[in-house]
Amino acid sequence: MGRFGAGLAGIVLAAVAGVSGCQKPDDAVRTGAGGSGIAIRYETPTGTDRDDAAFLRGRKVVEEAASAVSALVEVDRPISVGVVSCDGEGSSYDPEFTRVEVCYDEVSETRELFRRAGPGRADDDVAAVMLETLYHEMAHALVDVLGLRVRGREEDAADQFAALMLLRGGALGEQRLLAAADAWHLSEVTNEDADDGPDEHSSDGRRAVNHRCYVYGAASGRHRGLVGTDALPAERAKGCAREWSAIRAWWMTALAPRPRAG
Ligand SMILES: [Zn+2]
Repeated sequence: MGRFGAGLAGIVLAAVAGVSGCQKPDDAVRTGAGGSGIAIRYETPTGTDRDDAAFLRGRKVVEEAASAVSALVEVDRPISVGVVSCDGEGSSYDPEFTRVEVCYDEVSETRELFRRAGPGRADDDVAAVMLETLYHEMAHALVDVLGLRVRGREEDAADQFAALMLLRGGALGEQRLLAAADAWHLSEVTNEDADDGPDEHSSDGRRAVNHRCYVYGAASGRHRGLVGTDALPAERAKGCAREWSAIRAWWMTALAPRPRAG
């Protein structure tokens, strides 16, 4: 569940992924070799989702995420990514179908979140947030398919995998992760009145600070300006290099090819 899950509507929707058989996929793309890999299906967008669908397709955001994950890790069981109209339900992972669902409407919701905060945010930032969402959901798929044992909350590990994937992109990836952090921050501010009750995720504000900590931990020289503000408190910043290298090491070990039995 992302920034635009049940929180915005103030109600908790049943976590039933929209895998109805009536939505006809209009095409499919598969990345990776042989029977493994990640299959992408764009389902026909409904109503106002059409512009968001055009944006995602034009930017090839889903393809970028799928090929980056395929290049890093090989999975025995194929993972599918459905790009779907989901009526504000929020992107999700459905273990029953080994399927990530990413919602078209999160494009316009992200755009609106940035727009309300003021001018100056570009399509690149919106695409960065969508990438972070995709990597987060793909992390749940990897935990499931690879049978990973996560220490702590899986939601935190999924955020950390998103950070890992973005930070592999160097300075561009750092900017993208900072855009995602800003969106988490804005989501926290926008939803301050919402009482979502207990949640398996860290708070949106905490997710923002975590991402900034990872950026600073990975490339402190380029991001000293983050430290000492609300964006990244100085106390937290001290431990970021160590924290990030431990997170990176955990994921890289978890994703390393393992010898097969037999
Ligand atoms: Zn999650």
